[in-house]
Amino acid sequence: MANYEKIESALIHGGIYGDKTTGAVNVPIYQTSTYEQKGLGENTGWEYSRTGNPTRAALEALIAELEKGKAGFAFGSGMAAITAVLSLFETGDRVIISSNVYGGTFRVLDKVFKNFKIGYEIVDTTDLGLLDSKVTDDVKAIIVESPANPLLTITDLKGVADIAKKHNILSIVDNTFMTPYLQRPIEFGVDIVVHSATKYLGGHSDLVAGLVVVNDDELAKRLAFIQNSTGGVLGPFDSFLLIRGIKTLGVRLDRHVENAEKAAEFLKNNKAVKNIYYPGLKDAQGYEINKRQAKNGGAMISFELYENYDIKKFFKSLKLIALAESLGGVESLVCHPASMTHASIPKEVRDKVGITDGLIRLSIGIENIDDILKDLDNAIKESEVK
Ligand SMILES: *Cc1c(COP(=O)(O)O)cnc(C)c1O
Repeated sequence: MANYEKIESALIHGGIYGDKTTGAVNVPIYQTSTYEQKGLGENTGWEYSRTGNPTRAALEALIAELEKGKAGFAFGSGMAAITAVLSLFETGDRVIISSNVYGGTFRVLDKVFKNFKIGYEIVDTTDLGLLDSKVTDDVKAIIVESPANPLLTITDLKGVADIAKKHNILSIVDNTFMTPYLQRPIEFGVDIVVHSATKYLGGHSDLVAGLVVVNDDELAKRLAFIQNSTGGVLGPFDSFLLIRGIKTLGVRLDRHVENAEKAAEFLKNNKAVKNIYYPGLKDAQGYEINKRQAKNGGAMISFELYENYDIKKFFKSLKLIALAESLGGVESLVCHPASMTHASIPKEVRDKVGITDGLIRLSIGIENIDDILKDLDNAIKESEVK
């Protein structure tokens, strides 16, 4: 094993590094479904690729190491990862979710797990007293995102882990927006971390993948069983691509965040901007908590323009920043949460939690910041209703 201490090195050398057979510095793509057995009951430790595949295993060891957990699991998408975690629960159980979780997490609970009588309640998890009071006997888990999508609200992760421990239930954090490079929830006592690795971990908008990390052997066994039984595993080639993406996560995020801090300053000082949400700004909700639990404010920014700006025109006028779902790739993206990522949440619920029709969400990429700011500035000017 390579000798290193810091996460920048773990991103490159972590998990199962390279290939022992040939010395290849990269983990080979074991593009195989099955493995020949020498005789009855004599296998190499690999039997069938739904159950285990060496390329996927290298990725799973890597994410477990990065998140400081005991075991990692790779899935075909973030939603497959979240579905596997939700499969830990039974009819009659309920889970608490924070006010603005990813729309797909809300949808799978509201439209799929509801059919199995697994319930959910939306709670403002930024208020720990309120959260604690909502944990009734049937609540078996608290699921949070911090920063949460798309208003970038910050929840105190140690506070959530402590409440979960007190009630003997699970704390689950979707760490997609931060990644282990910026925030490691298990260090605060969180039980399960989930990722849409489609975003920053993959980092190039060229694959869809999900990851789960747990810090307990018993939970690891249960999740391995669910992963093998339900079968939503990540293939060898995508596992390789994800390992490749993770190697550059540190340098990419350093630039993403540097750019985002500048873009947030620009928007904050722009007279067209009514509201801005960015956890790296001193007056943002949860600024101090985020500073304690994460390296910085990340690279996602949401904002609203004043009513005398036409947001349809704003989107049309952007020439560098692409209008698209998703986030976390090297290219800057913009989206309209109310009609895109959060469309599956009913309008009444959206309005209640502040996902207004005027909200714009930016995933700041690693292009030159001057080009990003110029594009934003131009689109804002073009969209002013005179
Ligand atoms: C995209 C996303 C998901 C879903 O992941 P997929 O890879 O698209 O299935 C879950 N949580 C968050 C926070 C996301 O941004």
